[in-house]
Amino acid sequence: MIKVKAPLRQDSRSRVLDIIRATEPTSRIELVRETSLTPASITHLVRDLLAEGLVREVGQAESTGGKPRTLVRLNHDSMTAIGIQLGAASVGIVAANLAGNIVGRQILRGAKDLDPQVIVAFLAQAVEDLIGNLGLTRATIAGIGVAMPGPLDKPGGYLRNVAYLKNLSGFALANELEAATSLPVIVDNDATAAAVGEYWLGTTEAHSAYATVYLATGIGGGLVVNGMPYRGSSSNAGELGHISVDFRGPECPCGNRGCLELFAAPPVLMEQARLAPASAGLAEVARGNVEDGMSQLGILAARGNEAAKQIIREGAESLACGIVTLVNLFDVDMVVLAGPGFSSCEAFYLEEAQKALDSRTLARGVHNVSVVMSASPRDAAALGAATLALQDKLDRKPAAAVGK
Ligand SMILES: [Zn+2]
Repeated sequence: MIKVKAPLRQDSRSRVLDIIRATEPTSRIELVRETSLTPASITHLVRDLLAEGLVREVGQAESTGGKPRTLVRLNHDSMTAIGIQLGAASVGIVAANLAGNIVGRQILRGAKDLDPQVIVAFLAQAVEDLIGNLGLTRATIAGIGVAMPGPLDKPGGYLRNVAYLKNLSGFALANELEAATSLPVIVDNDATAAAVGEYWLGTTEAHSAYATVYLATGIGGGLVVNGMPYRGSSSNAGELGHISVDFRGPECPCGNRGCLELFAAPPVLMEQARLAPASAGLAEVARGNVEDGMSQLGILAARGNEAAKQIIREGAESLACGIVTLVNLFDVDMVVLAGPGFSSCEAFYLEEAQKALDSRTLARGVHNVSVVMSASPRDAAALGAATLALQDKLDRKPAAAVGK
């Protein structure tokens, strides 16, 4: 059965790999049918992939009268990539194999207020630890993908003036991490990486246009349009947190006014909890990082704490307002909620977002828009970053295969 009809890649080699992954074991004949490439092209591509060890032959399909078909499948562990979700409150690191499966993970303290060189050293050490713990061969590691909040200078590999990661502003993280690990490093927006990650997690099957809302310290938006990540001209598309919801509202550090983030970001909700009277029973919420605070808030709400319910409900309503705008702008038919900020509060966010989408999007009479939780809210961005690193490696055809 074909799991995914809308591969996130365009070049023939990557498409063939995607289709093998989705349909394995499969045959050259089926690949011709699925890709519309010529039999000769498929034969060449599969021969190269076999030579590189990325796929292997696994016997023959039962004959239906003609010549038996040789089956091929991915050599899942022939290549692994490391994905890092670099956040102010926490850092998630995963290793993903060629099939897009997570084979190892680690959660570390956040990068807020740390000296950039300290961040590089602790990321490099964490990568080495993960490689060592999993017993991975270094030569099979495609590289490292780092998912970070925007605004991002993707070609330069660094952040620009992110309010909650100020310490990294203007720091060439990709170059420095590359030097520290001797592995190729690419960076991308965390919400875009999460959107790519959802494809690999299987959340977005059969959807070629969808958005992710990434809730961490800030609020990000990732977009997949026509099966491809949409990044805009500088990889900063979908900055949902900086949609103005009140143009006369308070100034945002980004320079805009009344941004959604000022009303709905987890630190704002935690601050409301901190300011609530002692009788509200929210004292625990304000302690610790975003994930712990939101988790605590969600647990209290589930136990019936009215003050907690109200704070989450209002945050979820504000976020839903931004989600309606995102859907109106990009006409996606699915929205996936991802990121550590949804910890234990999922039900509230899903309910408010679905209610708003059903009653307020411009095209609601034309098509429904469903909102779902990520299959792995914690890992989506890191997994997406890892698969982008895999893709980057695969797109750079190895020297041994060039000219065949
Ligand atoms: Zn703003």
